[in-house]
Amino acid sequence: IWDDAIDRLKSNISQQSFDMFFSTPKKVYKIKNNKMYVIVQNNHEQFMLDKFYLKEVVEMIAEVSGLNYDVKFITADYVKNDQQAFDLTKPDPNLPKYYRGNLNTTYTFDRFVAGKSNRLAYMIALQVAERPGEVANPLYIFGGVGLGKTHLMQAIGNFILDDNPSSRILYCTSEKFIDDYRHATLDNNFESFKEKYRNIDVLLIDDIQFLSKKEQTQTEFFNTFNELYNSNKQIVITSDRPASDLKDIMDRLTSRFEWGLQADIQIPDTQTRIEIMKKKLAGENINLEEFPEEVLEFIASKFNSNVRTLEGALKRLIFYATINNSDFTIELANEALRDLFRAEQKKSKVDVNNIIKEVGAYYDVSVADILSKKRKKNIAYARQVAMFLTRELTGSSFPKIGEAFSGRDHTTIMHGCEKIEKELKDNTDLKKAISDLKQTLS
Ligand code: ADP
Ligand code: MG
Repeated sequence: IWDDAIDRLKSNISQQSFDMFFSTPKKVYKIKNNKMYVIVQNNHEQFMLDKFYLKEVVEMIAEVSGLNYDVKFITADYVKNDQQAFDLTKPDPNLPKYYRGNLNTTYTFDRFVAGKSNRLAYMIALQVAERPGEVANPLYIFGGVGLGKTHLMQAIGNFILDDNPSSRILYCTSEKFIDDYRHATLDNNFESFKEKYRNIDVLLIDDIQFLSKKEQTQTEFFNTFNELYNSNKQIVITSDRPASDLKDIMDRLTSRFEWGLQADIQIPDTQTRIEIMKKKLAGENINLEEFPEEVLEFIASKFNSNVRTLEGALKRLIFYATINNSDFTIELANEALRDLFRAEQKKSKVDVNNIIKEVGAYYDVSVADILSKKRKKNIAYARQVAMFLTRELTGSSFPKIGEAFSGRDHTTIMHGCEKIEKELKDNTDLKKAISDLKQTLS
């Protein structure tokens, strides 16, 4: 492929440039995960090729082979390191398991569908994986439940490991961190704790919001963070909300989370949901021709807020079709997924519009008034209750709730929620209102 591509390139660029960069022989070192590693003479050539000819080369390869390879120009040094790393790590049972073993190997970039809702996060994650420690440190990914945060985070780990098998990648949830710290305290053994969390190249820490209220652990995490950060080790953090909205986490930590880049993941649109299902079907070795588009559309329309649920529904349908030995049809989907639909419908009853409607009815304020800018006391109050309930019942992010409340700023929403939360402590009328409304809404 390579030689053909170069032949073709020859007629596409000037003779002079061709002689300069392509007259020396170049060998393909390996092809792995859609990446073609091509050995070049030296760093200078690598730099120039990357800068000026990468796109052309990729195009030519695509033309001659019909395949989209990602081309990496590498030098002999890379090859040496790679082989050494391979020799060292493949048979080396001494490397602690957690440096590689706790990544889900199916969570890769290949298997992640990028759409409008997550493209920025995807692109930044990919950049971070290509150049850990250099692009965005820390990388902070946030978004709602089941939208792919863990997948994307682990894709970074898997990618780096692929590039360099001897990398020490540690993936852990913040709960695991809390637990490990507790044990270290109980056993008074901080050596192995530090060894585990600091002697690494990349730290992937999932669902940081659970560090809330754990002050001692936060201090320890602060120290871990600093040490890794100062030695230029990549840190990736996920959370259900922006760093500035984290509650009961010390400011010196949250402000550090803002040092790098924050990227959010939103709910995917219908087309993306369909693409995600197609990817999963390919992963299950199911031929797309067997799976009518209308069935995909049907499922996508029913499960629209959480990719994990969507995936669960798809798996259920596959299982159902297999044991019944039947085709994938809408009828079958209806039958197989009936109770999942019901659960989903129940959940979607508590969408923000419904909440506003019910709160309005309760306080005798119109929906239009709640959504308006009016500041009359009873209106503002009902509005804040509705914000609070939306946060409680849907778990949406503050910016997202802001959008639903005629584009209010997320700080306004936060303020409203906090006010109601505070008042709830000793206002029995409000307590009753909230519990009545929750009753109605569920
Ligand atoms: P989160 O950590 O945000 O709660 P996960 O990363 O656990 O969500 O994702 C839930 C499931 O949905 C996983 O199986 C993941 O592979 C899948 N998923 C989410 N987003 C995507 C996507 N864009 N493309 C492919 N799979 C996705
Ligand atoms: Mg997760």
